[in-house]
Amino acid sequence: MDKRAKNNAEVRKRNNHLVYQSVYNAQDPITKRALVENLGLSLPTVTSCLNYLIKNKLLKYGGVEASTGGRKACTVKLVPNSRLSLGLAISANNVVFTAVNVLADVVAYQKILINFEDVDSYYEFLSYKLEQFVDSNKLNRNDILGVGISLPGIINKNNILELAPTLGVKNKNVDEISRYFNFDTFFINDANAGGFAEWWIKPLERNISYLLVDQGVGGAILIDNKAYYGDNFRSCEFGHLCIAPDGNMCSCGKSGCLEAMCSIDRISTDLGVSLEEFFDECAKDNKKYLEILNQYLFYLAKGIVAIRVIMDNTIIIGGQIAPFLPPYIAKLQNLANELFPFNNNESFIKLCQIGAKSASVGAALIWIDKFIKKIK
Ligand SMILES: [Zn+2]
Repeated sequence: MDKRAKNNAEVRKRNNHLVYQSVYNAQDPITKRALVENLGLSLPTVTSCLNYLIKNKLLKYGGVEASTGGRKACTVKLVPNSRLSLGLAISANNVVFTAVNVLADVVAYQKILINFEDVDSYYEFLSYKLEQFVDSNKLNRNDILGVGISLPGIINKNNILELAPTLGVKNKNVDEISRYFNFDTFFINDANAGGFAEWWIKPLERNISYLLVDQGVGGAILIDNKAYYGDNFRSCEFGHLCIAPDGNMCSCGKSGCLEAMCSIDRISTDLGVSLEEFFDECAKDNKKYLEILNQYLFYLAKGIVAIRVIMDNTIIIGGQIAPFLPPYIAKLQNLANELFPFNNNESFIKLCQIGAKSASVGAALIWIDKFIKKIK
């Protein structure tokens, strides 16, 4: 391709991208005229972009705009299921599968209970279950961009899973896991995935801290709409904030870390009950469990306050604990306010919107995000 033709192709790609993004960002179907005005492109250019995007099933005609008189204008709108992405969240004793569309709607979901093992048969089984998940939900393989896989550990820029205490894995090259899957793969830390998912559905919140409370405790921060990873991809390991110096031993070898005090295991596995059973008993005023819960919320508040002191922004709690916290969020906020050294009337704790699927949804959204940014 000569230079001029190459330039023309680049311009065409950029315009297609602009038109797609503009339709994507519009809440309602949008007219060609509005696209011309919003983007400052000519009518023939917008028409050509729309033809391309409609032909590729990324957009479709959205009906006729309500009009106050004169000729009514045709609108275009997004095809939400034009592309899909798969999310696979691996944790110590279960795996969550999701499929999301370009609007981050979860179109399919499944959770399976299986203990993690770093062996061929485990990854082969996951791949087999993922294939089954795609087929049983009638997802069109041609529309699937890839699979995002979240792991509860530190993944560095060379795709080395440096440490995943709850999985008992150290220094594993995650690219080795890719070969078991028939889709393109992308690996991400579970807390970063959860934080990304929360940010994606609320992009106007420029700064958030995300605290993931599962068996492991971790986090993510987004500053000015960008994830902050730190120099060694170890930022936001909130689980290892020391909040009780003489407290429980942590998987990191120190004592009193937030993870050691507030892992969901403290209020489920350690007591020989499920999270559901624990909170059911609390709702029934089981005194012993309420005492344990109070202590748990106190330590959680200590961790949250430590994050708030550094970040000075809203802290969103995600992970498996989140769906159970609504009845206790006011109490948690009060505890945090008592511990917070400054203005103690502010409300700075929120629960995640996506719930226990957040790591899987966030991992899937990585592919959607790449797709939307690169549409040509
Ligand atoms: Zn620790």
